[in-house]
Amino acid sequence: MRYISTRGGVAPLSFSEAVMMGLATDGGLLVPERLPQVDGATLRRWAKLSYQELALEVMRPFVEEDIPEADLRPLVINAYAKFEHDEITPLVKVGDVQILELFHGPTLAFKDVALQFLGNLFEYLLEKQGGRLNIIGATSGDTGSAAIHGVRGKSGIDIFILHPHQRVSPVQERQMTTVLDDNVHNIAIEGNFDDGQAIVKALFNDLAFKEKYHLGAVNSINWARILAQIVYYFRGWARATGGNPEQKVSFSVPTGNFGDIYAGYLARQMGLPVDRLILATNRNDILSRFVLHGSYSKGVVEPTISPSMDIQISSNFERYLFDLLERDGDGVKGCMAELAEQGGFSVSAEKLAQVRTIFDAVAVSEAQTLETITRVHRESGYVLDPHTAVGVAAAAGRQGVICLATAHPAKFADAVRQATGEAVALPPSMQDLMTLPTRCEVLPATAAAIKAKVEQTLA
Ligand SMILES: *Cc1c(COP(=O)(O)O)cnc(C)c1O
Repeated sequence: MRYISTRGGVAPLSFSEAVMMGLATDGGLLVPERLPQVDGATLRRWAKLSYQELALEVMRPFVEEDIPEADLRPLVINAYAKFEHDEITPLVKVGDVQILELFHGPTLAFKDVALQFLGNLFEYLLEKQGGRLNIIGATSGDTGSAAIHGVRGKSGIDIFILHPHQRVSPVQERQMTTVLDDNVHNIAIEGNFDDGQAIVKALFNDLAFKEKYHLGAVNSINWARILAQIVYYFRGWARATGGNPEQKVSFSVPTGNFGDIYAGYLARQMGLPVDRLILATNRNDILSRFVLHGSYSKGVVEPTISPSMDIQISSNFERYLFDLLERDGDGVKGCMAELAEQGGFSVSAEKLAQVRTIFDAVAVSEAQTLETITRVHRESGYVLDPHTAVGVAAAAGRQGVICLATAHPAKFADAVRQATGEAVALPPSMQDLMTLPTRCEVLPATAAAIKAKVEQTLA
């Protein structure tokens, strides 16, 4: 399989090249040249596989010229070894809805499904090609902790994660700072998340520094993250239907950067019997406005109780736009230029109708989110985290919907307590999280201070 850029400016790449490049050098995102197609007989067969065997089947055509099966297998097996549930992503029935629990990984959010795999993949590719990678990222909580757990102890990789000092939740902070592996460098900056992002951008824009220190990113745009997420759509469908190719399901997906739901779209394009993809947002609703009105326009980010979905621009959306514009790189470039210069762009009524053949969209208010947590808890005793609750609220009143559960409720304990009046406990394996030793350096929120720290550490 070869990979091309959504802006048409990159010669076709191999899978490993696409993974190591991350963001395409022309500013676009990398996508596979075509999608493998899965028929009914294959779907039936896949429905009987374990999660790991299914992952191998789904991934194989995307990587096969590059990574032999014998090498891919341990990468996949190890990626899911730290998941607490045998099923990896169990499907549970809660009243009328089915919940696909994606939060059984080491940091209790669905990002582990992809980042546990990506960490293994980076290590493997670096060993094969020689070389080092120094990952630098700013986080508001979830991505940083999942990335740290994905690469901790891996050879050839160091990771520097900037979080805003005392402005992430205690669980999120401890999930980062209790990781004491030598290659993990936690930095609490005396500033906010935006300051962290600005510093990271400044470091990446210093090309001499970037080259010298082999800087890499852990953003949600890496193709390997999307690939790993396609798997659980097949899994959820198989569990819900027993593997009957005549039976369709819909998915409700709590959405921020459009990575998760884009993986669902790809599964559908590959032949998975998916009826609707319900795009669920909080009041940061740029994507639901697009599906409803065909215009994509920036708003102001408003903080919510589902903070991992508080975004202004959804980076992965460009991948879907590329398909919608019939893979016209210049068309995508034009839209992105309009977005940058005028704050938005629109698609034709015909294109909007095409969007609506697949996607539904619902923006869910804070009050609805809390009410949903309260109602589900009262009716069934099941505790939803606020992100998952957005998806469940968006699917209300529909049949045959699988709601993706993107975080464990203990990760967002304050909102959950507000809705249920009860505390939620961390899973038994994490009971000692709040008392384990930690390592973290507090630094000024300046690019100079962070550069000095990187230079000193890697000297
Ligand atoms: C990242 C995240 C999301 C949003 O996923 P996208 O792929 O960015 O759309 C939703 N819920 C939780 C808990 C997350 O961490």
